[in-house]
Amino acid sequence: MAILIVDDDQDLGRLVSMRLDSEGYETLVARYAKDAFKILGLDGTADCPQVELVLLDVLLPDYSGIDACRRISSDPRTCDVPVIMMTGSNDEMHLQQAFDAGAIDYIEKPFKGMELLARIRSALRLKEEIASRKRQALELENVANQLKEANERLRQLSFHDSLTGLHNRRYFDDFLEREFKRAQRSKNAIALIMIDIDYFKRYNDRFGHQAGDECLRQIAATFALVVHRSHDLVARYGGEEFAVVLPDTNNAGGLAVAENLRSKVADLKITHPDSPFGYVTISAGVAAAVPAPDSHSHQLIELADAALYHSKRAGRNRVSVAA
Ligand code: GH3
Ligand code: MG
Ligand code: MG
Repeated sequence: MAILIVDDDQDLGRLVSMRLDSEGYETLVARYAKDAFKILGLDGTADCPQVELVLLDVLLPDYSGIDACRRISSDPRTCDVPVIMMTGSNDEMHLQQAFDAGAIDYIEKPFKGMELLARIRSALRLKEEIASRKRQALELENVANQLKEANERLRQLSFHDSLTGLHNRRYFDDFLEREFKRAQRSKNAIALIMIDIDYFKRYNDRFGHQAGDECLRQIAATFALVVHRSHDLVARYGGEEFAVVLPDTNNAGGLAVAENLRSKVADLKITHPDSPFGYVTISAGVAAAVPAPDSHSHQLIELADAALYHSKRAGRNRVSVAA
């Protein structure tokens, strides 16, 4: 990284360059603003300027030093490169313009080597400080983004059942409440299906809990395939019980979906020697209604539960609709 000295006074350029070289700085010298822009990559030929600081004369033959400073400070490729203006006189208006144009400091000619070095060092320190703050801000932003993503993942996880991947009871409760109220407002029907696996305790007792889990997963996947309308919901209600919410659906529609679920599970033919059916089956209860203005979603659950209970008592592997 080099310090770029821009001055049409070649003697001064050489002198400053020698002094800075002797202090271990690399230097580049330009007589004209256009040469400086080229070195800085502002004319489009280079895209990675290797300049860490610019010493810029306020009076140049081809360009106003103030305008050159503004161009350097406002271009995204060079806006981080500090500019120290070299002024010929204590001209307050030039100084004001220079600072307005983005100069970080100024030095009045003729200057002593020590003074120049002190100003360069403090400008570079400031530059490093700004860069490090920017890095910190960026890191902070990255961490904040990661946190946001992690929170979103957690939020998703908190709504899902880890065994089956279906939505969980918590999500179901919110969803049903929301959809029930929507149905109440729009006076549309809403259907709820409560499902319970038949003789599942016996299945676990014979094949073990792991096999029971696998069976739950298979049945959940089958449900997810059958219930595919985007605004329907299949959830694991708890244990070996599932619930399906079908907005804009009446009794007949709910019955059709429930019967489809029952037959698709039966079609899986998951061997269950301790069931009278010989394979794993489900029972379901359907309740659908246009909710009355003063009704509550738990009434729909009670109705569907009662219908499920009826299916169980009537021999299982069947669907009943709430009276
Ligand atoms: P019914 O036909 O009357 O529904 O009989 P059932 O045996 O299915 O009903 P019960 O309520 O007596 O037993 C439910 C069983 O479901 C008990 C438990 O072993 C099993 N179960 C519940 N949750 C899980 C689970 O997450 N994994 C496994 N493997 N089994 C579960
Ligand atoms: Mg049960
Ligand atoms: Mg059961």
